[in-house]
Amino acid sequence: MLTESEKLTYSWQLDVPGFGESEQLTLKNSTALVTRVGGLGGPVALSLAAAGIGKLILAHAGNLREDDLNRQILMSRDHVGKSRVQCAAQTLNRFNSSIDVEIFDENITEENIDKIAGNADIIFSCAPLFEERFLLNEAAIKGGKMLVDCAMYSMEGQVMTILPGITPCLKCIYPDKPTQWERKFPVIGAVSSLVAQIGVIEGIKLLCNFQKSSLGKLIRIDASSMEVKKIELLPKRVDCLACN
Ligand SMILES: [Zn+2]
Repeated sequence: MLTESEKLTYSWQLDVPGFGESEQLTLKNSTALVTRVGGLGGPVALSLAAAGIGKLILAHAGNLREDDLNRQILMSRDHVGKSRVQCAAQTLNRFNSSIDVEIFDENITEENIDKIAGNADIIFSCAPLFEERFLLNEAAIKGGKMLVDCAMYSMEGQVMTILPGITPCLKCIYPDKPTQWERKFPVIGAVSSLVAQIGVIEGIKLLCNFQKSSLGKLIRIDASSMEVKKIELLPKRVDCLACN
């Protein structure tokens, strides 16, 4: 049940058509894994915390660097040199003390993915590297978990929601890892936040089964022209190694 305090805290979103106490309760009883707490994962985690997700699992290795600061909204300059996930958890706990935050100071690998993703109901993939995104895609399919894949480059971004067994997966779209993919890429924090918020909205719609999610579509965001396009995806590939 929602407490009186929770009903008050979330009263403004409880007025959204289709989103009521049962949807809020679904959020409260849900666990979301957010991989990386950078330009995409930080705003994703913050907005999930604001919306009242029950538990967040954060995974990101390493300490905050000065050149992270243009986009890492959960951290500030005095956090430089400190563990990114620890700083993120502190900010999130201060922001919404009723949510549970579990942290892993590790990036997703084949070895740790079952441990980190095992208890999540929904995965928000905010990882910059295809290796990690493919591992999360496989974990989602194996565990029957919802997956929201968020990606961005410069002034463009894309969001894809995946429901195992129903929609095409990431490997259906990218059977092979794109060859030209840079580790360091251009990013303005506002653009990564914009893409992240679209991912959170899609994730909440999917998790709470309210309004219309964009399953089977790729959402393309072009911040230069301020155009958002929904591209209809082909059905699941019969030869997809991940789906099959
Ligand atoms: Zn597939």
